[in-house]
Amino acid sequence: MKKEVVIAGAGLVGSLLSIYMAKRGYKVKLYERRPDMRIAKAEAGRSINLALSDRGLLALEKVGLADEIRKIAIPMHGRSIHTLDRSVAFQPYGKEGQYINAVSRSELNTRLLDFAERCGVKIFFNHKCTAVDWKKNKITFELSGSEIQASGPVTIGFELFFGADGAFSATRLQHQLQHDKFEYHQYYIDCGYKELTVPAGPGNSFLMEKNALHIWPRKDYMLIALPNPDGSFTCTLFVPFEGELSFQKLTTEEEVTVFFEKTFPDILALIPDLTQQFFHNPLSSLVTVKCYPWAREDKFALIGDAAHAIVPFFGQGMNCGFEDCRILGELIGRYDDDWKKILDEYQRSRKPDADAIADLAVNNFTEMRDKTADPQFLLQKKIEARLHEKYPDKWIPAYSQVTFSPQIRYSDALHNAMRQEAIMQEVMKTPGIEQVRDKDEFLQAIVDRLNVKPLTLNP
Ligand SMILES: Cc1cc2nc3c(=O)[nH]c(=O)nc-3n(C[C@H](O)[C@H](O)[C@H](O)COP(=O)(O)OP(=O)(O)OC[C@H]3O[C@@H](n4cnc5c(N)ncnc54)[C@H](O)[C@@H]3O)c2cc1C
Repeated sequence: MKKEVVIAGAGLVGSLLSIYMAKRGYKVKLYERRPDMRIAKAEAGRSINLALSDRGLLALEKVGLADEIRKIAIPMHGRSIHTLDRSVAFQPYGKEGQYINAVSRSELNTRLLDFAERCGVKIFFNHKCTAVDWKKNKITFELSGSEIQASGPVTIGFELFFGADGAFSATRLQHQLQHDKFEYHQYYIDCGYKELTVPAGPGNSFLMEKNALHIWPRKDYMLIALPNPDGSFTCTLFVPFEGELSFQKLTTEEEVTVFFEKTFPDILALIPDLTQQFFHNPLSSLVTVKCYPWAREDKFALIGDAAHAIVPFFGQGMNCGFEDCRILGELIGRYDDDWKKILDEYQRSRKPDADAIADLAVNNFTEMRDKTADPQFLLQKKIEARLHEKYPDKWIPAYSQVTFSPQIRYSDALHNAMRQEAIMQEVMKTPGIEQVRDKDEFLQAIVDRLNVKPLTLNP
């Protein structure tokens, strides 16, 4: 008999996990603390749109959803870099035909919930998990909205339970509080973020290049923008919380306007109600969470952000959570219903990969903010792109390994990225590099520095 599965959190990862489990023949109950976003048009969570890339798409493909989601996505073929002098330069993300996808978080979540229900998943909204009794295998939910009962909170039993309740997971806390030697690390970066909207132009036209992720890199500050199907763009503004020019100091309309005039002059004309948006929209923080163990015997595991929250600078948090579901799906296939083995291997294999993408994401923060406008960095990227073109199996830029190569584990991508970066740091010291950069012997000498070892492939 297959165990009955309970999942806390019907966000992106919990919903996809429920589909994987239902497709494997499990009876699944999905509990979500918020109201049904499809009826209440409730706030879907952090960030209005997201970049979905090949790892996420592969996980969706395994349950037959990739084509449906591609239809609601906008391809972004590269970065449009906006400089202070208002010029815009386009940097492709990878080779011809490689791109990432802007997708609305609420639309994606809605499709996943609809599909989960079609697969037989029973969803309970307004159910907030507040306590877990690991000895008796019982979970308690506080009810809200239309679900409130005179008798108070509801307690249910469980056989197999997943915590997919996000970065500030209540299930993780319950696991941690009743676990000997539970490791927990949480780091905040010094920047906060606010979302702003560039409205659509006449007839839902796009006021900037539609098929690109826009970046305004300004060392201490950064603005990015992703396109939405209605012609608007969702911008995310990253600014330090404290310091000389920080969110703390941007307290009046005039201060905000002057800041934008000096830092992002071209955006002012695109957002007529900029200051209203700035003061109305919430300021949020960005956290990395690393913890272990993720699993408990044969009955519980954390998944998605609940297991590994990361900063968004590689656009991989959701993609990584979707990959968790895919790997778990493969392990169910391998070990049948032996959940002790499945969960042991799930956490053992995913933990190094989650740690690696967490570190890569923090590194990419510096790269996006400080370096995307630096000519030396751009030259390095051009040389690396040329190396990839000439030696596609030997030199794969770190971004491509993470974004377009789901067969490469994140942990290998990190290792390879560090090795390649060390080599490039030396190479960039070559005198007269501009003159030799396209020469065959120059490129060959770089590749020769790689002591190529076989990669461990994802299952
Ligand atoms: C600004 C920003 C931009 C991002 N951009 C990208 C991107 O471009 N690409 C990408 O791949 N990732 C991106 N991410 C990361 C991505 O948002 C997360 O990795 C992803 O949402 C994780 O999904 P999840 O289901 O694990 O968690 P969540 O999306 O947080 O979902 C958790 C769900 O659990 C529910 N819940 C919480 N507590 C309880 C409880 N006690 N009981 C029951 N339910 C509960 C919540 O209401 C929510 O529905 C970004 C993140 C941020 C902050």
